[in-house]
Amino acid sequence: MKIIRSIKVMQDYSGAEKKKGKKIGFVPTMGALHQGHLSLIKRAREENNSVVVSIFVNPAQFGPKEDFKKYPRDLQKDALLCKKNGVDVIFYPSAKAMYPPEYKTHVNVQDLSSVLCGKSRPGHFQGVATVVAKLFNIVGPTRAYFGQKDAQQATIINRMALDLNLPVKVRVLPTIREKDGLALSSRNLYLSQEERKEAVVLSEALKLARKLIRAGEKKSAAIIAAMRKLISSGRNAKIDYISIVDAKTLKPVPNISGKCLIALAVWIGKTRLIDNTYAS
Ligand code: AMP
Repeated sequence: MKIIRSIKVMQDYSGAEKKKGKKIGFVPTMGALHQGHLSLIKRAREENNSVVVSIFVNPAQFGPKEDFKKYPRDLQKDALLCKKNGVDVIFYPSAKAMYPPEYKTHVNVQDLSSVLCGKSRPGHFQGVATVVAKLFNIVGPTRAYFGQKDAQQATIINRMALDLNLPVKVRVLPTIREKDGLALSSRNLYLSQEERKEAVVLSEALKLARKLIRAGEKKSAAIIAAMRKLISSGRNAKIDYISIVDAKTLKPVPNISGKCLIALAVWIGKTRLIDNTYAS
């Protein structure tokens, strides 16, 4: 397994692979790898000849008061996991190489970026779309793999790839969870023991929503109210948002009809966690 830091070397590697007719599977990450990331890597391994994982804590997607500095970083541990899981290349660029001082270009996927998490984290999805567009141009993947855990991100990347005619197939894979239902996330590392127990409330709220829908509830407001009540009973939980939106447009829907996305963000102490489920 190679660790490539240079953009040019990465582009040359991909160019050479593709010249040989090889398919490249790409998994963009910010590192602190867990089973969620590994599920994407495994699928990339199955479907392609060559697997590239990028590890880049992208400053452009963090707000000034967010956790960029304290975001967990452990290249050695990540490299070991990648090696074990059949990764061919870790692309590990520096922020300076990705955003030199003269840098000016940003990708903005309109409307989809300003709702849900985009409302609470202004500029976040511009940072995400920009870095993913750059990574696609550097890695030149045949297929790129994303998690449903970040459903809004996946929707935005899909839209961007279609709108900009990027020659890559975007695959979105299911959320991997702990036994009690908590979605795996690098940010779970921030939680104290007590907070970790309480964090299960996000997936519990989604379970409750699905149960209500199965029982015939159609009104988004009623479902959201029940979710709010459940989450508000926790000591350390503070709701950022709970929304029920159309899965494609991400616009709020008053009633469950067609494919909907139920998404939420909740602060558990000082850690902001997200989760979601599809419903129809
Ligand atoms: P991150 O390192 O958090 O930027 O995530 C990199 C990729 O892994 C993104 O496509 C995420 O959606 C995906 N991912 C993160 N957590 C999970 C999870 N629990 N299950 C599946 N995919 C995940």
